[in-house]
Amino acid sequence: VIDAGQPEHSVVTTCAYCGVGCSFKAEMKGDQLVRMVPYKGGDANHGHSCVKGRFAFGYATHKDRIREPMIRDSINEPWRTVSWDEAIGFAAKRLKDTQAKYGRESIGGITSSRCTNEETYLVQKLIRAAFGNNNTDTCARVCHSPTGFGLKTTIGESAGTQTFDSVMKADTIVVIGANPTDAHPVFGSQMRRRLRQGAKLIVIDPRRIDLLKTPHGSEGIHLPLRPGTNVAMVNALAHVIVTEGLEDKAFIESRCEPDQYRAWRDFIVEERNSPEAMEAVTGVPAELVRKAARIYGEARNGAIYYGLGVTEHSQGSTMVMGIANLAMATGNLGREGVGVNPLRGQNNVQGSCDMGSFPHELPGYQHVGDPNVRERFEGDWGVSIDPEPGLRIPNMFDAAIAGTFKAMYVQGEDIAQSDPNTQHVEAALTSLDCLIVQDIFLNETAKYAHVLLPGSTFLEKNGTFTNAERRINRVRKVMAPVAGMEDWEVTMALSNALGYPMHYQHPSEIMDEIARLTPTFTGVSYDKLDRLGSIQWPCNEEHPDGTPTMHVLDFPIGRGKFAVTEYVASEEKTNRKFPLLLTTGRILSQYNVGAQTRRTENSRWHEEDVLEIHPSDAELRGIHDGDWLGISSRVGRTVLRAKVSDRMLPGVVYTTFHHPGSGANVITTDSSDWATNCPEYKVTAVQVEKVTQP
Ligand code: SF4
Repeated sequence: VIDAGQPEHSVVTTCAYCGVGCSFKAEMKGDQLVRMVPYKGGDANHGHSCVKGRFAFGYATHKDRIREPMIRDSINEPWRTVSWDEAIGFAAKRLKDTQAKYGRESIGGITSSRCTNEETYLVQKLIRAAFGNNNTDTCARVCHSPTGFGLKTTIGESAGTQTFDSVMKADTIVVIGANPTDAHPVFGSQMRRRLRQGAKLIVIDPRRIDLLKTPHGSEGIHLPLRPGTNVAMVNALAHVIVTEGLEDKAFIESRCEPDQYRAWRDFIVEERNSPEAMEAVTGVPAELVRKAARIYGEARNGAIYYGLGVTEHSQGSTMVMGIANLAMATGNLGREGVGVNPLRGQNNVQGSCDMGSFPHELPGYQHVGDPNVRERFEGDWGVSIDPEPGLRIPNMFDAAIAGTFKAMYVQGEDIAQSDPNTQHVEAALTSLDCLIVQDIFLNETAKYAHVLLPGSTFLEKNGTFTNAERRINRVRKVMAPVAGMEDWEVTMALSNALGYPMHYQHPSEIMDEIARLTPTFTGVSYDKLDRLGSIQWPCNEEHPDGTPTMHVLDFPIGRGKFAVTEYVASEEKTNRKFPLLLTTGRILSQYNVGAQTRRTENSRWHEEDVLEIHPSDAELRGIHDGDWLGISSRVGRTVLRAKVSDRMLPGVVYTTFHHPGSGANVITTDSSDWATNCPEYKVTAVQVEKVTQP
């Protein structure tokens, strides 16, 4: 932390770590950032913060920052430092040559949930308008894409239904596959405050999370299910609610499609969905499941919060729909204190999805196959848009290995470290003729790149982020970009070099265009954001100041649609060779692959990833705290130190993925969600053995 002294001026901006979206005053002395002070006027954080947002900003000026563009003809050659013009010209020529040789569909790109809404919008526009295809995807593919599918299918909008403050009106809080006190600390603290006031807590997670330690009026219930059995659990909970008469019949009758409700009800009352029948699958005693279902079913206000422990499964989308079923069945939608609330991992996961990053959807989740939607965008952009959805990230990798996909533009995403089955990803990246990486550090993906374009941090640009409660917050420039260009300017330069002109002077103009083309954003502008502080979309004629609570009177699809959620066991199974199940998560001081937090003071709190293993599994293998362990899966092997802990169930091991050396994704498989291809990071069968040294 820089010696602060008295700041000379301050700028209000938004934290670039997690999906809580805390507001901070960046206090400056000359052009030096001396301190990040949580901003009391922040609508998401009300003056609170965590160790990441408050202290982990030093990476912005770290010596490892890439300060000049670099190019090379092949990945075996050393980098050559060049001017922006030369780098952009080189990249554009490679992209054009690739399309000339292999066809229009042979190139694509990936937007980032770390970047602003305006930057993300511009990358997908570049791909659709300048590349001429829909091969655009976002890193949200590997985290919350099932949220998009599951919520849109059931309640009509790919977003959380509430404000964070709404939790203060919940009398039952259900947390599924999330660890808010570590991954969303400011909101985790708010939850704790509500629990201390007496709200009841139900946690569905293989691991005993810290929230369960909160002293509160009634004891929290922990349903420690086996990894991969979420859908069995949600069906068992729904079975109790329906068969014990805990449904909200008035809500179902007035708000939901009757035929789909009947089909779901007929399915859910089957004995095979009872807690007793599912006990053998989930490993959780039926009586405990019944108790939890009664608490949620009888709650005046029951609110569900979920994280990647729901989505990163082969049945991720099914589970999201199962959660929406529960909320509809109990009438827990459309007012404060209730709802279905995905806790987004990165700062702008919600925004990157909203901005049309997916290959099948233009901004505002408008399907690319809809001729009316295309006509509106085509009129504004002056190009014709391909009606066919493009490639998802895993499809891009497969096509690269097959030799039909040859060039990729990756902005702010380290796919070589963060995507599953690293060996497969590396094989794909090595097959490309042109990989353009735009990032703030020389990351793992850059090893396979031909063009390296320096990225800008959140402190170096203007724009907006959208947090997990649909709140659009302003990001304000605090310092000049270290390499002279903001990310949106780089994308614009690349588009111009490819022959599709873009001439924005400021990100506010990009937001004006987004508002023009996106029905849920028509009322959003920088002026309004400055006036109101933040806006929760939808913000349009109907809701000029935004929408804190969604689905109050109806759903965007009219009536809510129950979905039949059949449990299907994960293909990833234990056997004698791989007898343990590995699941993954995060810790408080670090952030995702650690590219930023590892380059800050926060590193002192977490120097390495470790493998948590239950005492009984450790004893069986003669493992003690600190021992080196070899961890093998069906796709790879890595080495980690042991931490013996009873937070996990016997038979389940756990690690974080904050350090590249540990290579958790060397062992995760490429099994994925049936609907969205979101990888099944949370279920990997492994063998663990003591080794003498790494
Ligand atoms: Fe940043 Fe999230 Fe911490 Fe808030 S809770 S300061 S948004 S990391």
